Amino acid sequence: MTSQLIVGKELRRLGKGVIDLARSRRLSQVGGGGVTRTYLVALGLFCVLPIGATAALYYSIPNETLTASPVRTLTVEPVRLPDLRGQMAAIEAVTDPISHEIFVREAETLTSLLARLQIKDTQARDFIIRNPITQALVYPKQGQFVTAVAGEDGKLEELRLYTDSDISGKGSLLEVRRTARGFQARTTPYEYDTELTMANGVVSGSPDTSLLNAGVPAKIVEQMHSAFDFDRDVVSQLQRGDAFRLIYETKFAEGSFVRHGRLLAMQLDHDGKTTELFRFDNDNAGGNFYDAEGNISRRTFMRVPLDVQSVTSEFSPMRRHPVTGVLRPHLGTDFRAPWGAVVRAAADGTVEFAGVGTGYGNYIRIAHGPGILTLYAHLSSIDPHVKKGTKVKYGEVIGRVGQTGLATGPHLHYELKFGNVQINPMTVRLPDTKKLTPYQFAQMEVLIAPLRAKLARLQQVQVSSLSGKNAVSQTN
Ligand SMILES: [Zn+2]
Repeated sequence: MTSQLIVGKELRRLGKGVIDLARSRRLSQVGGGGVTRTYLVALGLFCVLPIGATAALYYSIPNETLTASPVRTLTVEPVRLPDLRGQMAAIEAVTDPISHEIFVREAETLTSLLARLQIKDTQARDFIIRNPITQALVYPKQGQFVTAVAGEDGKLEELRLYTDSDISGKGSLLEVRRTARGFQARTTPYEYDTELTMANGVVSGSPDTSLLNAGVPAKIVEQMHSAFDFDRDVVSQLQRGDAFRLIYETKFAEGSFVRHGRLLAMQLDHDGKTTELFRFDNDNAGGNFYDAEGNISRRTFMRVPLDVQSVTSEFSPMRRHPVTGVLRPHLGTDFRAPWGAVVRAAADGTVEFAGVGTGYGNYIRIAHGPGILTLYAHLSSIDPHVKKGTKVKYGEVIGRVGQTGLATGPHLHYELKFGNVQINPMTVRLPDTKKLTPYQFAQMEVLIAPLRAKLARLQQVQVSSLSGKNAVSQTN
């Protein structure tokens, strides 16, 4: 790709930005959660052009556009906006039909959704309620992106709901359309425009606050933490002066920002070394983070299936039962934890039992492959989605600590069994140094090569800006 091509691409984006800006101005008269974001995206796009030098800096990496990333060192120059008044007047002169773009709010209903989209159409509403395909509109989820086109009389012409899966990042589009023969609905797979956003910064206070202050979305910070085991979380160990570099997805639909997607790569400088992790999805289920040698970053079994950082545990094969007083084998580990503390699935698996037992109280048993079981007892509650047959992921919340069954105080009774043998999870070597096969590793190497190149560039920028030089003017 030549730099002219990049400039051409940026110009097209600028054009799109103009339209988005105009559109958001028009929309702002009717309000709606999406408007400010559209406006911000448009502004973000304007900011890209004056830093053409930055584009040139990254142009050796093909097929990617530098997005409006929170790379603070690159956006210090003032931006002069072109005079758009003529174009805006022309765009605003176009009136009907009226289109709206909004994001689903918390506790949104179909009724409130239609009202915010300025649709007054009982026939359309009835169609959506009765049609099995359109139920996602009857129960919209917070954050979903919705667009609508309606006549000036409020009659629905077209309604679109963009849904997506957080895990795989795959989306689908639900469309309701007025035709000559009444309304029609259909669902099709939807590919969001995905851009890679880069962020870097240096920790100055608490790690999370520093990340958020550098513009890293909360959802990405969450993913950074969950790339590690709770007891080995490098993110929470970051200290003042430690640097971070990240690449994550930003998703757009019809030119509007929809949400941030998956964290794809991160580098964390801490304690004199750099932790580098890449997401690799070899099972199409969201993937895991691996280091550059193909070692999985998170153990496949949580040692302690609780969020609690320090827990007192007791694993004794024989003891006097605290309630019945009878000496008998104690089959498990007791983790003392406050009532209501979150209990997580220790590894990926399938729920075998979720219900009440006499001694165990509320308990859950999960199978993790041939002969491997975990059991969680005395729970105050079991998460409603956890039922026999439910597939659970490592770290997924399954219930809460309690005192049901034979228990003297709130604690988690935890059992781990390999081929019917009780294991002490705190001391045993668990089969969790999962390494990719040579074939998978080769696949991963191809996929992460462009991400590594980007991180290396980002590091150069970071190093030169930290040493007080202007990163942009130094290059090329
Ligand atoms: Zn116990």
